[in-house]
Amino acid sequence: MSPPHRDDSVIDRLVDANKRYASEFIDPGMDARPVLKVAVVACMDARLDLHAALGLDLGDCHTIRNAGGVVTDDVIRSLTISQRALGTRSVVLIHHTGCGLLNLTEDFRYELEDEVGQRPSWAVEAFKDAEQDVRQSMERVRTSPFLLHTDDVRGFVFDVTTGLLREIDPTIDPEP
Ligand SMILES: [Zn+2]
Repeated sequence: MSPPHRDDSVIDRLVDANKRYASEFIDPGMDARPVLKVAVVACMDARLDLHAALGLDLGDCHTIRNAGGVVTDDVIRSLTISQRALGTRSVVLIHHTGCGLLNLTEDFRYELEDEVGQRPSWAVEAFKDAEQDVRQSMERVRTSPFLLHTDDVRGFVFDVTTGLLREIDPTIDPEP
């Protein structure tokens, strides 16, 4: 028996959309290895449509997303599995203009602790400069001992107003 439909439920709307999607879906017969052998690490921002922005099709890539598109230990976990178990070789890192993390600091954790009585084990990974954080993220990928392929790692800032990617030069240090 299906649950009663509620017009105000966003999740019901998604489930309905899925029924329409599945009704036209044709099994592409792919296995789990991304066709383009690439993993994309990006912010979860709702304005960033990765497949459209990068011309990606179903099955082309792994997409790993979190708040900020930050290379955390868990992103390294996913990249390690992506490369060692599923054959990807290239890594694309994408931050973007107007990111919510630009307005946060590590104080977020302490405020959280004040409110709920325990401090989260994770860092907020807030940043003041998306470009500099892309550089740090590239460095974290390049220096990870777990990854097989670190020679094709490139980082970008996506402009949410123009849809354009700007590549970040990993070698420039803005604070000499
Ligand atoms: Zn963001």
